[in-house]
Amino acid sequence: MLNQLVLVLNCGSSSLKFSIINPNNGKKFLFGIVDSLLLPKSRVIWTNNSIQHKHFLNEKTSHIMALNFVFKKILKKEVKLFQSIVAIGHRVVHGGEKLKKSVLIDTKVINHIEEASCFAPLHNPINICGIKTTLNLLPNLSEKNVAVFDTAFHQTMPETSYLYAIPYFYYSNYNIRRYGAHGISHQYITYQTAKILNKSSVSLNIISCHLGNGASVAAICRGLCVDTSMGLTPLEGLVMGTRSGDIDPAIIFFMNNKLGISIQEIYKILTLDSGLLGLNGKSSDLRYAENKYYFDKNSKRSIDVFCHRLAKYIAGYTALMEDRLDAVVFTGGIGENSVLVRELTLSRLSLLGIKVDVKRNLQVRSGLCGFINIEGTTPVLVIPSNEDLIIAQETISLINKINE
Ligand code: AMP
Repeated sequence: MLNQLVLVLNCGSSSLKFSIINPNNGKKFLFGIVDSLLLPKSRVIWTNNSIQHKHFLNEKTSHIMALNFVFKKILKKEVKLFQSIVAIGHRVVHGGEKLKKSVLIDTKVINHIEEASCFAPLHNPINICGIKTTLNLLPNLSEKNVAVFDTAFHQTMPETSYLYAIPYFYYSNYNIRRYGAHGISHQYITYQTAKILNKSSVSLNIISCHLGNGASVAAICRGLCVDTSMGLTPLEGLVMGTRSGDIDPAIIFFMNNKLGISIQEIYKILTLDSGLLGLNGKSSDLRYAENKYYFDKNSKRSIDVFCHRLAKYIAGYTALMEDRLDAVVFTGGIGENSVLVRELTLSRLSLLGIKVDVKRNLQVRSGLCGFINIEGTTPVLVIPSNEDLIIAQETISLINKINE
């Protein structure tokens, strides 16, 4: 029977992802993506009953147009499925200081998400657009929309982790602190690792590495996040596709004072021209540098810096694990697939008892889940992320509580 299905919406800067999911068992009845939004030609790809469909939208498609297409031309045509949707879960990147866990959406919540836009200017306004459009398009479910935040999982960080060593005044008056991101993925990894290791998540100590176009590491102790590499915004931490991650803040003053580059241009350089792209000069796509690693010095350089930084974070986070480290876990497009990145990173960590099994590492990719360490050494797992499941579960549990 189709009951209690959740529609999950992930309205990103250039794409809209959607799925209809059973929160109890994770079964996805329909899922898809509208990509290349705001570009001349965007594409909708969706899968329903294991059949993939494709449709091209010829004009510059806005997020509102994409949502209209998804609701009217895809979802509403699946009458039974559509009628089984009892709630809608929206992924929201930044909850700021006011929204610390998943919440039912109302005007006040929308205002708070708007306030937190200063910390995620590329994401929160688009998330709000997705929420408002959904409220218009599905008025009968308008009281069943839930916001699930990428910052929420990191709210358990102690102040020793989330405070910057700048005058305290900037935290107390302006909320300048570390918030982290990718929390929904790190939460799923915690839940799934506990299942695989047959442990309760409240006693689980892991280091979760979400390596995609954006990348972050989280130190999770007794099931709770105690530190993470992203900061006030998703610019801090690891080397990413086009983001620099950690830099000496004095670089900004040098670029501005000595090179005459405007602050706005520096922000663009650090967010769009840096990371893997900046280091190899050609591509933010890890696959490009991976294919040329052994004969192109620019490609090698970009991956070596990426892995060096990642290994430093993993090693640093072992200091936060109290009595033991249960596992290091890789997820995200790079974490799930790049045999080379995993090998180069883990080989830097042998002092910590971490040893990669070359054969296992080669085998676990393309959506597979498994261990890649030599037996008897610290467990290293690869787990494909499933953020939709966490969003659906958070959404239904909140809706059920309200209905109680
Ligand atoms: P995500 O943001 O999680 O979709 O991940 C995007 C990143 O994953 C890009 O840098 C891709 O190059 C990388 N990626 C995706 N598939 C593979 C693969 N098969 N091998 C290596 N990297 C991959």
